[in-house]
Amino acid sequence: MKTNFHPMRKCIGCLTMQPKEQMIRIVKSPDKEFFWDQTQKSAGRGAYICNNKACIEKALMTKGLERSFKCRIPSDFLESITEDLNR
Ligand SMILES: [Zn+2]
Repeated sequence: MKTNFHPMRKCIGCLTMQPKEQMIRIVKSPDKEFFWDQTQKSAGRGAYICNNKACIEKALMTKGLERSFKCRIPSDFLESITEDLNR
């Protein structure tokens, strides 16, 4: 039987479960670099945010990313993602 299963992930902005393929995956690489993993397949610890500005801003405000990665996130990194979404 074929199932139409969508893996769900919790958004660190709005804290709701969303289909993973509609989200932005943020990855901390083994050499402690943060990047937007557009393939969603890169190695490293990942966190997910809905693909919208409101959730990214919320994640910034509540420090959801910091909590998820247990370290400081460069603020210009998140700002650059917000800018990419505005394009
Ligand atoms: Zn969200």
